[in-house]
Amino acid sequence: MTEKRKFPLPLGRVQPTNAAPKPVLRPQRPLQDAARDRARAQSPSGLGLDSEHVRARMVERLRRDGLADARVIAALQAVPRHAFVDSALVQQAYEDTSLPIGLGQTISKPSVVARMLELMLAVQPPLARARVLEIGTGCGYQAAVIAQFARSVVSIERLKPLHDKARANLAPLALSNLRLVYGDGRIGHAPNAPYDGIVSAAGGADLPSAWLDQLAPGGRLVAPMADARGAGQVLVVVDRLADGTLRRSIHEAVRFVPLESGLA
Ligand code: SAH
Repeated sequence: MTEKRKFPLPLGRVQPTNAAPKPVLRPQRPLQDAARDRARAQSPSGLGLDSEHVRARMVERLRRDGLADARVIAALQAVPRHAFVDSALVQQAYEDTSLPIGLGQTISKPSVVARMLELMLAVQPPLARARVLEIGTGCGYQAAVIAQFARSVVSIERLKPLHDKARANLAPLALSNLRLVYGDGRIGHAPNAPYDGIVSAAGGADLPSAWLDQLAPGGRLVAPMADARGAGQVLVVVDRLADGTLRRSIHEAVRFVPLESGLA
């Protein structure tokens, strides 16, 4: 893909490759983890084609539907989405659909991830130098995509089993600029604040004030929120201008899982 040549991914991040990565033995981890890693290092079984090729077709469909930014395209091409879903769902991993990841939660549709990231491209400083906070790690897929081109990503999840699952899913990618936090994302994550970008994968009745407090000047927040009638959700974008004031805009209707309070 020409985009890969124009925007080479920095060393240490996911490098798309045709060759299946060699299995890594980790004696300190349980045997079943090592076996699962080995299975994931191979092409998803039953797809009939290697995963990079299937992923390229997914990205091509997104391009046909209007995805234009080369950085977003390269990041979606780089992250093996099949490694973030249960083995029974691997064959659907490159369809533009959300899929269950356990505990009533879902992995976002690739087109939705692409849309959120395109909206994030307006942050200042440019994304390559931006510090991003993600609310709702889930299985870790979107965090891995953002980590392909942001300077750093902190991602928070309130459900411990999903936080642990994301950690396991992300370990083989060894993304040194991504930090996972187990906590209530409604209060953001003050230790690393402020953030140039804040993106939420869960929507509530309002935007928690901590998110706005933790948004740096020039920064942008993208989140689903209940619409005016409270019947559905819309995508809300909040920009913190250089003078510190906030500017809010409402975008298309969306359907994300609810933003919940507290830990579980
Ligand atoms: N980012 C994921 C999407 C996961 S779905 C992806 O890549 O596909 C949204 C996630 O938000 C769920 O895992 C849910 O548990 C989590 N969530 C909901 N409310 C939250 C809160 N207050 N703090 C942190 N995570 C929350």
